Amino acid sequence: MQLAEGIQRHGFRKWYERQLLRSHAHLVLTLFSVLGLMGALEAASRFHTWQDQLTDALALLASAGIGLWSLRRYLYLLSHAEYVANQARCPACATYGRFTLVGAPSAEPPVRVCCRQCQHRWSIDA
Ligand SMILES: [Zn+2]
Repeated sequence: MQLAEGIQRHGFRKWYERQLLRSHAHLVLTLFSVLGLMGALEAASRFHTWQDQLTDALALLASAGIGLWSLRRYLYLLSHAEYVANQARCPACATYGRFTLVGAPSAEPPVRVCCRQCQHRWSIDA
């Protein structure tokens, strides 16, 4: 979900919370893929036919691929959420995370926002 669309639909705090939940769900997937990788490595010594070894190699590759993808996704979502959160403080009154979107949401950064406390407007680079 794009930043502007998420802020308009849920508000900044809910958007931020959802981003953190999404990123940590990817971390859990990374941990499961590590378990799959360890299981495939352990099973490699027990299989003797080439069909079983091929299946084990495919499982090992799938676990490694999913693990790398989910780790990359976890780091991206977490760093993006933190990058936006570091810009969520109103420069005029220092109120954190209480702003509304100015205008219609667009996919192009920056996102223009307005403080609910003092009506100051600033941009958030996404
Ligand atoms: Zn303000």
